[in-house]
Amino acid sequence: MALALPPGLEPFFIAWSAVVGAVIGSFLNVVIARVPAGESIVHPPSHCPRCGARIAWYDNVPVAAWLWLRGRCRSCRGSISPRYPIVEALGAAAGALAAWRHGPSLAALAELALVALLLALSFIDLDTWTLPHALTWPLVALGLAASAAGASAAPSLRSSAVGAAVGFVAFAAVALVGEKLLRREAMGWGDVFLLAGLGAWLGVAALLPVVLLASIQGAAVGIALLLLGKAQPGPAPRDGGAAPADDEEWVPPRNAVPFGPFLAAAALEWLYAGGWIARLVPMLGAFR
Ligand SMILES: [Zn+2]
Repeated sequence: MALALPPGLEPFFIAWSAVVGAVIGSFLNVVIARVPAGESIVHPPSHCPRCGARIAWYDNVPVAAWLWLRGRCRSCRGSISPRYPIVEALGAAAGALAAWRHGPSLAALAELALVALLLALSFIDLDTWTLPHALTWPLVALGLAASAAGASAAPSLRSSAVGAAVGFVAFAAVALVGEKLLRREAMGWGDVFLLAGLGAWLGVAALLPVVLLASIQGAAVGIALLLLGKAQPGPAPRDGGAAPADDEEWVPPRNAVPFGPFLAAAALEWLYAGGWIARLVPMLGAFR
């Protein structure tokens, strides 16, 4: 249930939510940099990764600070990745969209939490080819909790719970069969928990369209990178290219792209534009 806003206040609520989203985006940049390394996300305070200089609050204002510093550190003039303001802008967009779609409500807060977790997981997967349990397990738990409170996109708690279970079992089967048949990791366990989380947040019926959308877009991007010859090989093997001994040593295949960001993007497409996609592709209409 949403609180009723006094007439005329809606634009201000949406703008305020965008600012909140941008601040969350700024925090996500810290999460993306520190969680895979197992570092604390609260200590030490923000500092330049190059020179270590502490970043003052006025140089930490989401999006704007990067623009007025022209993407450079104030101390060492080293360049700061445009990814920082991009993540902050995506956070702002998520905040504004949640406010516009749901008004001041638990559903808006829940949607913002979902998008924030998906943004963090996507960029961590692009960086490190991992989806940390520190983020995927809370994604599953929060999805179930939000559904229990009627604040998720899942039609019911039952659909949410079944979605988490089906997402987990379906991808776990792919992961296990891949490991046995191909003798390599076909599907990471991170993807298994990510899909379980998406099932919890969106409901069981959304799983098939989300996996289809993710696969189509993942394949399209993979082929495009291959054709353009711009594919990035994964992180270099740590021991000069010897055969991977275990999971820790697993090296992504050349010209491959991690699947997590595509699953996350497909989930957001289905969340924001599922009705429109179902009209465009009538086959998917059955899953709305
Ligand atoms: Zn610096």
